[in-house]
Amino acid sequence: MRVTIDADLCTGCGLCEQTVPEVFEVIDGVAVVKGAVTADKEEDVKDAAENCPVDAIDVE
Ligand code: SF4
Repeated sequence: MRVTIDADLCTGCGLCEQTVPEVFEVIDGVAVVKGAVTADKEEDVKDAAENCPVDAIDVE
């Protein structure tokens, strides 16, 4: 699974970090992907992408 975040769209709300802290971290007001998504986190990452209020998370 490949996860990218559009930094221009991200508002730094922190929802993705709260949902999957192992994968997302908000640094200086912008979410970043901390590392590879393990299989057990894929569903949570998809949920985070669907719930992002500005649709900034892209999952492939
Ligand atoms: S949920 Fe979306 S807007 Fe909020 S911090 Fe994560 S990527 Fe940014």
